[in-house]
Amino acid sequence: MLPRAVATISAAALSHNLRLLSGRAGVPLILPVKANAYGHGLEEVVQIAAPLPEVWGFAVALPQEAVTVARLNTGKPVLLLTPAAPEEMAELARLGVRIPIGTAAELAALPPEAKAHLKVDTGMNRLGARPAEALDLGRELARRGQLEGLYTHFASADEPDPSGALRQFEAFLAVRRHFPDALAHASNGGGVLSFGPLDSMTMARPGLASYGYAPEHLSGVLDLQPVMTLQGRVGAVHTALAGEQVSYSGLWTAPRDTRVATVQVGYADGYPRSATLQAQVWVQGERRTVLGRICMDQMMVDVTGLDVNPGDYLTLWGPQGIHPGEVARWGGVVEYELLTGLSARVARQVG
Ligand SMILES: *Cc1c(COP(=O)(O)O)cnc(C)c1O
Repeated sequence: MLPRAVATISAAALSHNLRLLSGRAGVPLILPVKANAYGHGLEEVVQIAAPLPEVWGFAVALPQEAVTVARLNTGKPVLLLTPAAPEEMAELARLGVRIPIGTAAELAALPPEAKAHLKVDTGMNRLGARPAEALDLGRELARRGQLEGLYTHFASADEPDPSGALRQFEAFLAVRRHFPDALAHASNGGGVLSFGPLDSMTMARPGLASYGYAPEHLSGVLDLQPVMTLQGRVGAVHTALAGEQVSYSGLWTAPRDTRVATVQVGYADGYPRSATLQAQVWVQGERRTVLGRICMDQMMVDVTGLDVNPGDYLTLWGPQGIHPGEVARWGGVVEYELLTGLSARVARQVG
């Protein structure tokens, strides 16, 4: 069957962003591909990125994601970013997945053949060992020959004030200095854009930036390009007469006879319902208004004066026309939510 929502992933844009970010960080990248590669399609993104010399490996949030990426056999390492359950560790180790260690219990469950990345909590207060305990865990991992790397995560590197992240980095360096031979990584996308190279780091982990988005105040640092174009198929076109209402709850009344294209994408695909009465769609080089309530599977678009027909695909967002950041703002969400919220109904294709 023909897909109604299609996300086209630009291999050129992704490669371009990864080159720029690696250049800015001064080190290779661990590309975060959690949450279906920020909605872009896990397999598609991994296949594009794996051959690039700028990519050291891939980072995932879930053990299941780690298994999926490891089984793609790209030859590049996979790092799990959240704790594995003890009973999951053997399979992860067998697949060569790098396992995060942030507690003594996790260390105790670590299979002897596994490579570990020590997780240091320097202020995010989410995962990892505080610096003093991290030293002990790191020494034990090093003694066993299992300490491949260590890392920390910034809580506010994408905020205009970088002081918190820099304090975190100082705390991380104090641990890092004890393990000079290990790999080390700290920056997410905000860190890479804000700070560029950081003392003695060997990798960086920019996620959202790799997919083409920068926080407003950092948007001039690199020429990042949105990787995804989302399009929706027109199912039908009809005329709503002046005075008629369109969609649920009568939120919009036609001020004049209006040509209406019904696009077969809705909030079940991940287009935010909360963008109702603000959303626009890019049609033949023009911004056109979404009329009334966005439905579960459809939305109605004013195409008056345009030659739009069933089977046409209209662009809901992309690098040209309507930026995904605008859609996120209309919906009251951030780009992370917009992209990761795209559902399994959305077909991913590489373009
Ligand atoms: C998600 C994540 C990243 C990437 O963050 P961005 O803000 O998308 O750059 C990096 N490191 C860890 C530990 C993460 O969980």
